[in-house]
Amino acid sequence: MSRSWRVLLRRLVLAFLGAALLGWLVDRLLLALLLTALVSLAWQLGQLYRLDRWLSGDRDASPPQVGRVWDGIAAHVTRLRRQSRKRKRKLSKLFSQIQQATAALPDAAVILGEDDRVVWCNGAAQQMLGLSPVRDIGLPVAHLLRHPDFVAFLHQRRPSDNVEFSAPVDDALLLSARIVPYGKKQRLLLATDISRVRRLEQVRRDFVANVSHELRTPLTVISGYLETLLDSDSPAFDLWRPPLHRMQEQSRRMLHIVEDLLLLVRLESRKERPPFKPVNVPALLATIVDDAIALSDEQAHLISVIADPELWIAGSEKELHSAFANLVFNAVRYTPAGRRIEIRWFADDGGIHLTVEDEGEGIAPHHIPRLTERFYRINRDRSRDSGGTGLGLSIVKHVLNHHGGQLRISSELGVGSVFTCDFPHELRMERTAISARNVTGSRC
Ligand code: ADP
Repeated sequence: MSRSWRVLLRRLVLAFLGAALLGWLVDRLLLALLLTALVSLAWQLGQLYRLDRWLSGDRDASPPQVGRVWDGIAAHVTRLRRQSRKRKRKLSKLFSQIQQATAALPDAAVILGEDDRVVWCNGAAQQMLGLSPVRDIGLPVAHLLRHPDFVAFLHQRRPSDNVEFSAPVDDALLLSARIVPYGKKQRLLLATDISRVRRLEQVRRDFVANVSHELRTPLTVISGYLETLLDSDSPAFDLWRPPLHRMQEQSRRMLHIVEDLLLLVRLESRKERPPFKPVNVPALLATIVDDAIALSDEQAHLISVIADPELWIAGSEKELHSAFANLVFNAVRYTPAGRRIEIRWFADDGGIHLTVEDEGEGIAPHHIPRLTERFYRINRDRSRDSGGTGLGLSIVKHVLNHHGGQLRISSELGVGSVFTCDFPHELRMERTAISARNVTGSRC
């Protein structure tokens, strides 16, 4: 107990003892004690009243001063008030610094409250999204930014995703937006101008496409002439036959790279999905396996296919052929002679799948995430010698993206690899259903 409380208690005890003595002397003990209690209560109430007025900010009121306990409480409150004022000053300084920083951000920032109503927005949001910090506060953001892609994204509520849409103030401006939830029922909408990045990507794509186009014709001509020379029976060419063979090999390889680059550019730059047609995947796999057996040749790999004959999908046959052939030919090229390669085409609860499993050399885990990058090869010389371009898995990834699917790779060094293409159930087409539709079509 503090000293001031001890003094107060001592005073009270003394006052009551004095009152009791006086009361006893005049034979009014109870009255004397009652009066002392009333006086003491009135004094404490008076102090409490002063404290209340002082705490509620009355300028005329002074803190309770009489009595050490009240002095102590008043000093304590004064200290707390001073601390809280200091903290308030600090917080408001910090708040204005944050506001200044977000206002200076080159990206648009909008705070969304309940029902995605605009609570606050920075300067960039005014320029890029056309929002007004006066007119639009309190309005639902979906009423202000009406692009269908943005509205769909707003309702889907997946914070990890982002959406691209043209700016409401200028169609030429392409924005990428994300929404981050924070606090209670608050979300932060962030939008960045990505027009420049997209323009640069387009320039890169155009450059690759133009160079590939320009190279294709001379390479085809060179390759054709080399073939004619090699076909000639003239003994004059005998000395030149080995270098001519090498030249033909290299020109074919370059032509292959050019074709793959052109295919990749086409896949990348296509904005709209091409109309999908029923694809007889089991038949497609049969032709790919024939080619794989030819590629394997003397290496005599044991290639087997287990395919559900009824399972067709809606897609682009050319693209699917390219993706599946890349996976199967890779299995042949990276699997030692005589080993097993198994191809399976089936559907289960998780979707439709193609797996290509080999007993090859396997891939170390740190290479796996990078395999679908263009020209990423674990062993450059090995890839080149086996006729690889380093673009195969990149093509596979793009084709699968086009079909709403994905590529999974699992591998163990020295044991083998499994490449799995996953497709969504929606692409499924039963062969019987397709034949029935064709029959009805021909009758009409
Ligand atoms: P490449 O034309 O070089 O085969 P890809 O893009 O098809 O290019 O493959 C990239 C790299 O992935 C290859 O260079 C190879 O190192 C590795 N790879 C692909 N498939 C397999 C496989 N079945 N087994 C082992 N490594 C593989």
